[in-house]
Amino acid sequence: MNVLVLGSGGREHALVWKLRESQLTDDIFCAPGNPGIAQVAECFPVDLSNPAAMLQLAEELKADLTVVGPEAPLVAGVVDEFQSAGRRIVGPTKAAAQLEGSKIFAKEFMHRNAIPTARFAVVDDYETGMKFLPEFGLPVVIKADGLAAGKGVVVARHLDEAEKALNDFLVRKSLGDAGGQVVIEECLAGEELSFIVLAGTLGWLPLVPSQDHKAAFDNDQGPNTGGMGAYSDDSILPEELRQEIVGRVIEPTLAGMAAEGMPYQGFLYVGLMLTGEGPKVLEYNVRMGDPEAQPIVMRLRSDLCEMLLASLDGQLAVVGARWSPNPAVCVVLASKGYPGKSETGKVITGIDAAESLGGVKVFHAGTVFRDKQLLTSGGRVLGVTATGEDLPKTIEQAYSAVSKVHFDGMHYRRDIGAKGLRRLKTTNETQHPDNQAGNPSPAL
Ligand code: AMP
Repeated sequence: MNVLVLGSGGREHALVWKLRESQLTDDIFCAPGNPGIAQVAECFPVDLSNPAAMLQLAEELKADLTVVGPEAPLVAGVVDEFQSAGRRIVGPTKAAAQLEGSKIFAKEFMHRNAIPTARFAVVDDYETGMKFLPEFGLPVVIKADGLAAGKGVVVARHLDEAEKALNDFLVRKSLGDAGGQVVIEECLAGEELSFIVLAGTLGWLPLVPSQDHKAAFDNDQGPNTGGMGAYSDDSILPEELRQEIVGRVIEPTLAGMAAEGMPYQGFLYVGLMLTGEGPKVLEYNVRMGDPEAQPIVMRLRSDLCEMLLASLDGQLAVVGARWSPNPAVCVVLASKGYPGKSETGKVITGIDAAESLGGVKVFHAGTVFRDKQLLTSGGRVLGVTATGEDLPKTIEQAYSAVSKVHFDGMHYRRDIGAKGLRRLKTTNETQHPDNQAGNPSPAL
């Protein structure tokens, strides 16, 4: 089979890398791709906002299967375009992709289907927004309706921040049409968790649990980013919580979309806050997360191509998914300035040395190959991903690999997976109370 992957980030590099292992694939193509992907797949330029152009490329390449990484092509309708031409593609239709493409659609959908989420109001002018603010207290969350590449959500701790966000989105139109309407939302407290499933024409499969690190700096400080790292470990999701999320969120979401005439297919990412009142949905993404995809894919033992085909053929329950019990950790290396304006054009060294460590893979995101050198070309540059026998050792291995890589201005979080370590410690102490004071658990 010829397989085409659409996208150019670390998530797509991970997908291509895994598809390479498949017994079912012949040629693997990626568009537009990046220099890391180009080592394992032929890359082609394409406009990810133009469904007709993507279909034309797939036809030229005789792609038997296309996998969509990012949200923009899905929201633009690439799946509908392929389906009407009879070409196989994994992802939701334009109608179903509104779950991510419009925060208002997602909130109203959840409201209609009694899916737990934060209280909200929809406003389309500044004055109405200001009137609503007191109803939500502080902090309050202001979200632009449309796609905004991670810049559309403001968690305002003070009234002036909330006013500024409303003014930026609704008056100054800082995000253009994407901010023309706004959701004002109650701020939820708790720990965040991502739950990602692969939904097929019949049935769905959960992927292993993962946790993202959105803030730029350690201890969740600083501005929000596209994601500074992620880890996947089974301890993230105790069975009881898993069942609660499946029963209260996943099943009603998939059933609701089908009942409303928009059956959902493809990866569905549900961002959750684990509140005192149970899990509540923060957001839907109609794709795998980036960087969550990197550690998740690293743990996959099944043939990814077979799983994707099974999702289209109504065979997910038959094919299933096999996972490594070992955790995986991805540390994102970012350019100076990120998430603001980032430096580019810096020489990158040390990837081979990092990958020579056992269980390590470095996925490319913002890189470019120019004048025989690998250079930085974006905010998030690389995702250094490791897998190992337990979480402490895996974190250690990921950071040993990070220490081999260098580019000027490189910054990264030093606490990826730390919440997982704390969770393990608490569980250990609860299970072995004698171990507590001054006697750290052997796992740590
Ligand atoms: P979203 O794109 O809607 O997930 O928002 C991005 C990030 O903003 C989330 O990962 C949370 O960290 C934060 N966030 C969004 N909505 C809320 C909320 N209602 N309460 C607290 N934090 C939120």
